[in-house]
Amino acid sequence: MNVYDSGTMESLMEPLGYDTTNNCENADLVILNTCHIREKASEKVFSELGRLKKIKFERAKKGEKTLIAVSGCVAQAEGDSILKRAPYVDIIFGPQTTHLLPELVTKANRLSTTQIESSFPVNSKFDYLPIPKTDGPSAFLSIQEGCDKFCTFCVVPYTRGEEYSRPAMDILDEAKVLAQRGVKEITLLGQNVNAYHGESIIGQKIWGLGRLIREIAEIDGINRIRYTTSHPRDLSDEIIDAHKSVDKLMPHLHLPVQSGSDRILKAMNRKHTCSDYLYLIDKLRKAKPDIAVSSDFIVGFPGETDEDFENTLQLVRDVNFTHSFSFKFSIRPGTPASYYKKQVSNEIKSKRLLKLQKLLDKQNSDFNETFVGKKMAILIKGKGKGKGQMLGSSPYLQPVRVENSSFKLGETHIVDIAKAEANSLLGKF
Ligand code: SAH
Ligand code: SF4
Repeated sequence: MNVYDSGTMESLMEPLGYDTTNNCENADLVILNTCHIREKASEKVFSELGRLKKIKFERAKKGEKTLIAVSGCVAQAEGDSILKRAPYVDIIFGPQTTHLLPELVTKANRLSTTQIESSFPVNSKFDYLPIPKTDGPSAFLSIQEGCDKFCTFCVVPYTRGEEYSRPAMDILDEAKVLAQRGVKEITLLGQNVNAYHGESIIGQKIWGLGRLIREIAEIDGINRIRYTTSHPRDLSDEIIDAHKSVDKLMPHLHLPVQSGSDRILKAMNRKHTCSDYLYLIDKLRKAKPDIAVSSDFIVGFPGETDEDFENTLQLVRDVNFTHSFSFKFSIRPGTPASYYKKQVSNEIKSKRLLKLQKLLDKQNSDFNETFVGKKMAILIKGKGKGKGQMLGSSPYLQPVRVENSSFKLGETHIVDIAKAEANSLLGKF
């Protein structure tokens, strides 16, 4: 989602004469678009700001002005502390006010006080935002933002606000523009994307994600549709049915379960049990037998015992996941779980994380191994690291390196899979 929002900022600043650069030392404006989901991510912001401060002061000596802006969820949640720890920051703005960036930059160029904007405007920011810049045949499309689930560990409902679904017609228009730009693969985005319930025609019927996917699949040029991230509570039959009948919907679902212990799921306020999750996976695999399922896990949630953790390992064995993400529980200020007494030590968290990741890695490499000697449709997305190598992705979202430099970006080729590596495949043509 931050990648999508950053693309929007690029589009917003273009008419003001700004272009992007990979070199901060040449930049008139540097925006750190931040994530607050775990402590590690938000601490990075302050170390990066330290680096930018030096650049700003060096450039000032040469008479060049550098504006530093912090956007995203750290800006939303910790605006005051940024101001205290890094008073040289010129602009601080939250994710709901991206559309105000040009105005904030204009003011910051004129005034020496830090411009702060962390409101939750009544009107949707999407009404004011241009379509983000895209790079290559794969693009994100934000369809839903915010969350009303209030999992006890999570900051999203506080930083991104309440759940909001964009009107379906706006989404279809954006998808058509992407298709005209040559985009072949669209990933629909939302913190809780499968809770999507957007207005179809103003004041008319509400569409769910399944219906929206069907409509996007009608757009010529768009060959692959994905969506992320989903909550188990909102995986409707309509979406499962889309997996069965919409060919353009890719056979991969990221469905975070977080834990395999019902006790912990309850303390997390996840609103589902392990058997609810297993039932969904079963239904999904009956509808689409080859679907690959990945998940997010949190280890060391307060009160998690060895037995709870064993239950997580068991659930992983029962489901058999592909490429998943796992994290140590991170205390997020203000969330209910940050007040829970029985915090788990970092040492235990590290041990559990290692064990879980070993199992998940094994499942992922076993999954990759099953494709060796088979043919797969690969969408070419960029150049690989090796000479004459191109990089693409499989329908299951595995990165695939292909030894063929005549392939062009955006083409889909049927490729023989020669080798499986831990996190990618090697294709021969
Ligand atoms: N909406 C999605 C997840 C969005 S946050 C869902 O409900 O599943 C992305 C992931 O970050 C989460 O799935 C969770 O695994 C992880 N995460 C969120 N808060 C965390 C915290 N306080 N500590 C560790 N991991 C966290
Ligand atoms: Fe956070 Fe996802 Fe839970 Fe919402 S559903 S509170 S985004 S983890």
